[in-house]
Amino acid sequence: NVCILSFRSKSSNNRVLHQELSKMTVLEKKTLAQSLLEEVAQESRSFPTKSYDEFDNPFNTRPPSYLGKEFQLHGTTVTSALNPRSWSTLTLHSRVAITRRMVSFRFSFPLPTNHSGLIAGQYVSVRIDSRTGKDEMRFFSPVSVPDDPKFLELVLRFESHGIVSEYFQNMKPGDTIECKGPCGGFEYHPNTLDELTLLASGGGVTPCLQIIRCIMADNSDKTKVKLLYYSDTVDEILSREELDGYADNHLEKIEIVYSLGEAPEKWTGEEGFIDKEMLDKYVTKNRNEKHKIIICGGPTMSFSCCFALKSLAFLSQQVFIFGPFGTDPVKRIYGNTCALSQHDCLAE
Ligand SMILES: Cc1cc2nc3c(=O)[nH]c(=O)nc-3n(C[C@H](O)[C@H](O)[C@H](O)COP(=O)(O)OP(=O)(O)OC[C@H]3O[C@@H](n4cnc5c(N)ncnc54)[C@H](O)[C@@H]3O)c2cc1C
Repeated sequence: NVCILSFRSKSSNNRVLHQELSKMTVLEKKTLAQSLLEEVAQESRSFPTKSYDEFDNPFNTRPPSYLGKEFQLHGTTVTSALNPRSWSTLTLHSRVAITRRMVSFRFSFPLPTNHSGLIAGQYVSVRIDSRTGKDEMRFFSPVSVPDDPKFLELVLRFESHGIVSEYFQNMKPGDTIECKGPCGGFEYHPNTLDELTLLASGGGVTPCLQIIRCIMADNSDKTKVKLLYYSDTVDEILSREELDGYADNHLEKIEIVYSLGEAPEKWTGEEGFIDKEMLDKYVTKNRNEKHKIIICGGPTMSFSCCFALKSLAFLSQQVFIFGPFGTDPVKRIYGNTCALSQHDCLAE
């Protein structure tokens, strides 16, 4: 466990390292040193030079794009409420329970002439003054479309005893959070891909829902999108009516596959976690960078889906995983020097 913790915190466990080194002979140390030097030389050729800490999202080869976009709406200039360098105060307008553990929160921007200012797929950082008396900060993927001039909508799946979850559970209209962004995520731009496959688990569906909303709202966007969505129960499927509506009316553009942990009687969808068989059955075998496969879920799901994708011969650079540790599964499974996905599909 100690090893896993220090792996996730991106620092080596020097005590263990030195202990292991002390067991080696001089010759073994020399062989190890030579192989490490070769690895370092190869890595510095394959990766752009950047420190992990420079950006929150390790897929990024540069900081997340921030457009500070302005547009005209009914004769008024609408400006960005959020920016990556300072905190903006957002006020809770309303909340709607989806299930006991899942609630949608709609926040008003500081000005009535604001929109989020994000690009579809980007996530934000939320800061609260917690019960512990110190600031707590967590990432969230808005589900509202980035240009929505009314609200920033977040959907939370509460963690039991989670600090930020408890804060949100107790929030009433008029209460505030602080928000900063963009912080990372996959920057989706219309018509930069032929095909987008989204693999989502539970609350991880939020960035997928936002990207789907953007694709479906834009008739000029010809990208084909497929969502494979695992949910514990049928009640926890987020925005099912809306998703089914898209799938029923735009067969040529979107396909949605649900899989349930606890399927009710007469369920005709899939059952169980997203696994190799399911990926083999539903993911089209276009193994090129114009087909991006985005994984949005916890670490176990990310590792197992990434492993299955590799065994189905998808390329490492097709796979993008949401979250600050997103590149770990890809590097561990495809190899440390594998080609990584960009955080967008714009030409360099
Ligand atoms: C890019 C990104 C986007 C995200 N988007 C969303 C989103 O749209 N919606 C959403 O709901 N979440 C999202 N998350 C997750 C979110 O950031 C939080 O991690 C989540 O809300 C839990 O935070 P918390 O403060 O409530 O829980 P925490 O206090 O961080 O606790 C997490 C869990 O660990 C347990 N725990 C804490 N300490 C210990 C301990 N010492 N021993 C054992 N267990 C412990 C808690 O009981 C809890 O179950 C996203 C995460 C990322 C990285």
